Amino acid sequence: MSVFNVTVIGAGTMGNGIAHVFAQKGFKVVLVDVQQAQLDKALQTIGKNLDRMISKGSITDAEKAETLNNIVTDNTISTGVSKADLVVEAATENEELKLKIFAEIDQAAPANAILASNTSSISITKIASATNRPNKVIGMHFMNPVPVMKLVEIINGYATEKEVTDTIVALSKQLNKVPSVVNDYPGFIANKVLMPMINEAIYSLYEGIADVESIDTIMKLGMAHPMGPLQLADFIGLDVCLSIMNVLHKGYGNPKYAPCPLLVNMVTAKKLGVKSGEGFYIYTPGSKELIVSPRFL
Ligand code: NAD
Repeated sequence: MSVFNVTVIGAGTMGNGIAHVFAQKGFKVVLVDVQQAQLDKALQTIGKNLDRMISKGSITDAEKAETLNNIVTDNTISTGVSKADLVVEAATENEELKLKIFAEIDQAAPANAILASNTSSISITKIASATNRPNKVIGMHFMNPVPVMKLVEIINGYATEKEVTDTIVALSKQLNKVPSVVNDYPGFIANKVLMPMINEAIYSLYEGIADVESIDTIMKLGMAHPMGPLQLADFIGLDVCLSIMNVLHKGYGNPKYAPCPLLVNMVTAKKLGVKSGEGFYIYTPGSKELIVSPRFL
């Protein structure tokens, strides 16, 4: 199956990065978002990220121009996917919304097009059920920031055909990424392993076993992780962490995945981490200093 035209649905944090990596490798990309402001911001972000690559000497001015030239934008899914060989959906993480988007993509995309989702936690089999081509639906889970992170977690839905998986594996390698193929169960692998670790770190704080700094220092220096689990939770967003723990808990019906009550309380209080300015740490725009929230001192 050959892929030349790629449509990316959703121009947020992940969508702009996905559009960037495909366009840089010469694919023709249509970037679709319902919000014009998000499309404008995405093109600006891609431009800035390409400038950073120029300053590091990894690409030339001409390559930047070519990459930007490979991207057009659209506000409507039906026109945006009409010529796609591959659609990568990276819209807001909401099951109802994704089912609606996939039904719409299925109606308008060429019959042979592969439909991929970048979802972190929603069942690919469920998403595929909104289409008339479940054999051509697959998970293509990029990591943030997309231009930097090497992994693509590829998720086979119940009906995904081998030819589709092989195409997405080959395509990921073409993007200079490392693909890993997994089956479609709650949290896939990345979040099924990562989120319980974060939840356990939050439990350890809640139970008073150690403070914020000790937990993060032990996991950072002891396990050679680039940052501690509480800081990572702040970066991911505590609401996102809670929603993924709920997916694991509901999906496996196992109490070991119950979200920590402290995590639930922090999300209810809208202390969501970096995006709200406070989580386990306090975040001030422009400052890189890591300050523990006074609540945990
Ligand atoms: P985001 O909120 O930054 O961007 C989502 C974009 O989708 C917004 O620009 C929004 O306007 C757009 N959108 C909403 N409804 C739409 C529609 N009907 N048609 C077209 N566009 C629509 O979200 P994000 O962080 O980029 O996450 C996108 C997806 O990627 C989610 O499924 C998320 O779980 C997954 N993901 C996120 C990360 C991460 O670190 N942020 C990592 C891996 C996977």
